[in-house]
Amino acid sequence: MSKIIYIAGLGHSGTTLLDMSLGAAGGVTGLGELKTLMDDNTRQKHYTSVCSCGKKAGDCDIWGKIPNAINGLKTDPEKIEAVVRLLDEVEGKGTVLVDSSKNSYPYLSYMNQQHDLSLVFLTRDVRSWSYSRHLSTGKPVVYFMLRWFLENKKLLRRIRKMGIDPIFVGYEELALYPDHLLQLIAEHTGIPYSAKLLVPGNTTSHIISGNIARTDPAKRSGWKYDARWMLSRRILTWSPLLLFIQRMNRRLVYSKVNAGSILDFHLFGTRRKKELDRQYN
Ligand SMILES: [Zn+2]
Repeated sequence: MSKIIYIAGLGHSGTTLLDMSLGAAGGVTGLGELKTLMDDNTRQKHYTSVCSCGKKAGDCDIWGKIPNAINGLKTDPEKIEAVVRLLDEVEGKGTVLVDSSKNSYPYLSYMNQQHDLSLVFLTRDVRSWSYSRHLSTGKPVVYFMLRWFLENKKLLRRIRKMGIDPIFVGYEELALYPDHLLQLIAEHTGIPYSAKLLVPGNTTSHIISGNIARTDPAKRSGWKYDARWMLSRRILTWSPLLLFIQRMNRRLVYSKVNAGSILDFHLFGTRRKKELDRQYN
C-alpha cells in the first residue's frame, strides 16, 4: 500500500500547478494525469512534450521508463501497481504519489480501496472558470456555468458514496494565499510543509501533459492569479444565475479563507483587525 494524493476537480482549475507545488515537498512526486497517460495511444502523443522536470518525455527518469514498466499489462489496476513500483525504484521507497487524474471514478475508487489515499478537491470560482473556458473554446459563458454546477455536484456525490473525506481547496484561495493553503493541504495529506512548496518550479513532479504553465518560467516561480474574468461584461450579464450556485461556489472555493464568517476572513477579517487594534493601538 502506498500513500497517494489524488487531485480531483474540473480541468483548468490549477491542478497542474498544485501537482507541481506538492511535488516540491520532500519524498513527494506527482505524475500529472496518470489515468489517461497509462493508455499507450494517449501517452504516445505527449512523448515529444517537455516534462516539468525539464527533459523531453522520452528522456525523463520516469516517463522514459513507463512504456517498459507497463508493457503487456491490460487493466488500469495492473498498470497503477507497476507505476507505483517504478516510482519507488526511481525516487526511493515510500515516495508519495500525486495523481491529478481529476474525475475518473472507477479508477479513483480502486486507488481508494487499495492505497492510503488523500483527496484534494480543487475548484476554481465559477466566474473565473467559466470565463476562462469561454475564452479558450468560444462557447457561451452560461453553458460553462451550468456545467460547473452539474459536474461538481456529480463529483461531490461520487466522492461521498466512496466514503472519502476530501479537503476542499479553491484555486482562488491557493493563488491569493498560497502559504496558508499549502500548509493546510500538507497537514491534511501528511506531507512535510516548507516554503519550497510556494514555488511550483521547485518540483520533483514529472508532468508531460495538461497546462503548458509547467514550462512557463513566470508561472513556475510562484502562484499567480488569473484575474481576466474581472474584466468581463458577459460574467456581469449572467451574474443573476449566481444566486442559485453561490452557495456551492462559496463552499467549494472559499471554505479555507472564510471560516464560516466574513468576520474571520483570512488576514482581512474584522476579528483580526480588532485583536491587532487592542494590542497595538
Ligand atoms: Zn520528467
